[in-house]
Amino acid sequence: MIVTMSTNATQAQISAVVEEIEHQSLTAHLIRGTERTVIVIVGQGKLESQDAVRGLPGVQNLTPITHPYKLASRQVHPQDSQVQVGDVQFGGPDIVLIGGPCSVESRKQLIETAKAIRDAGGQMLRGGAFKPRSSPYSFQGMGEAGLELLAEAREATGLPIVTEVMAPEQIPLIMRYADMFQIGARNMQNYNLLHAVGESQFPVLLKRGMSATIDELLMSAEYILSHGNRRVVLCERGIRTYETTTRNTTDINAVPVLKTLTHLPVMLDPSHSTGQRNYVIPISRAAIAAGADGLIIEVHPDPDHALSDGGQSLRFDQFAELVQQTRKLAAAVGRS
Ligand code: PEP
Ligand code: MN
Repeated sequence: MIVTMSTNATQAQISAVVEEIEHQSLTAHLIRGTERTVIVIVGQGKLESQDAVRGLPGVQNLTPITHPYKLASRQVHPQDSQVQVGDVQFGGPDIVLIGGPCSVESRKQLIETAKAIRDAGGQMLRGGAFKPRSSPYSFQGMGEAGLELLAEAREATGLPIVTEVMAPEQIPLIMRYADMFQIGARNMQNYNLLHAVGESQFPVLLKRGMSATIDELLMSAEYILSHGNRRVVLCERGIRTYETTTRNTTDINAVPVLKTLTHLPVMLDPSHSTGQRNYVIPISRAAIAAGADGLIIEVHPDPDHALSDGGQSLRFDQFAELVQQTRKLAAAVGRS
């Protein structure tokens, strides 16, 4: 349920509504707009006495929320949300380009890549220190040593860092080094992890599970939002279909569908969604044209010798080319 307060409602009136909601054993989330405040009611039960809220001074009306996700729904927040990470703003007029290796492998690899990303016009650095690999015998990431290198790369370039968190225990450690968590496809429905990153109040890039529906992605976002952590950015990264010529199938529909259903920023990861370097630029163009708020791209100085995802990683010159091409696309759709 959404309680819409009138434009001249006072703070005391807003507090009285919150008190009544809590009295009915539910939780109130305030969304303060430029004109008015709306109060989103969530919880396990439903509002037993709607009239007790409707009758309070300053309340304009009560509207039911039609979707199972509440705080993620565009109904509660008709304008796009912006998520700020350092100087980078997701969901604003700028298309955000994140680049970097699948895995952090060495100081030389990471610092060279970070500088290439920055010089080409990328705004943020990615790189996994804890890697969710399909095989236990594949490279599992450098762990804390990888995080130290990421922090060093930020120091050298000024680019904020996004890196994957795989378990709640890793949260405090990663927060010391990075600027944003990535939750990978394989953990999209790891509910303990979602609760914990929600509590952390730290920005989150939440990737869609490879077999997850769009509604399930939004329900996972809701877990994080339910803790009052509003810094959630969604990422389409391809889904598993019967098609075998590419690693995954880019669900380009997901971009406009998500932009309709939610106010949260929407990124696209063409590296994982295609799995092949030569398709990354065309699908990046498609993403921007479809309304994505940014791209996350795997880049490596020597993709043929990468410890993970080399086949889908761009060389530096290819990343620079991608930036040039997406700049033109961005201008064509009124973005920068
Ligand atoms: C990654 O970003 O390297 C990764 C493992 O992504 P996903 O979770 O989308 O497979
Ligand atoms: Mn990868």
